Amino acid sequence: MSLDVSPFMYTIIIVNTEPDAQRRQEGPYVVIECPEKIPCDPCVGACPQGAISIPGSLIELPQVDYEKCTGCLMCIPRCPGLAIFVIDETPEDHAIIYIPYEFIPLPKKGDKAKGLDRHGKERCDVVITKVIAAKKFDHCAVIGFMAPKNLINDVRFLKLTANPDPR
Ligand code: SF4
Ligand code: SF4
Repeated sequence: MSLDVSPFMYTIIIVNTEPDAQRRQEGPYVVIECPEKIPCDPCVGACPQGAISIPGSLIELPQVDYEKCTGCLMCIPRCPGLAIFVIDETPEDHAIIYIPYEFIPLPKKGDKAKGLDRHGKERCDVVITKVIAAKKFDHCAVIGFMAPKNLINDVRFLKLTANPDPR
């Protein structure tokens, strides 16, 4: 568990789960940022690998078994708190960050955007690489985008900047 304390917003983001350095290089992995003890557990049932658990009481924070997580993205749209992300550090010169996205219109592959941090501050340019909007995801799409590797712990949302085919 790690703390990201912003001196500007006086907020604390708790990252519940982080893989070790070796696992980070082996493939995409889930990151859960769910800091509040509330009775909630859709993430547990969403994982086909059984990688997410909430030990003990329902209000405890979720934990991840990184030997089971395949980075399949299925848990992202199931979290009502939009607190689940998947990171892929395996590309040589960039990372792919997958986020939940509830806005319309949806971006499409190739669209450009600004990567925003948890406080809405622009941090980098990103390019959309994947858009998954399945009916079973219940109005929450999953968007993947290329981002610099040094910002994988910072960029958690995006703002579209150029869409030549607005829908
Ligand atoms: S990314 Fe897939 S395998 Fe990993 S915790 Fe989420 S649902 Fe499970
Ligand atoms: S579904 Fe989301 S908000 Fe609920 S416990 Fe899991 S990570 Fe936290």
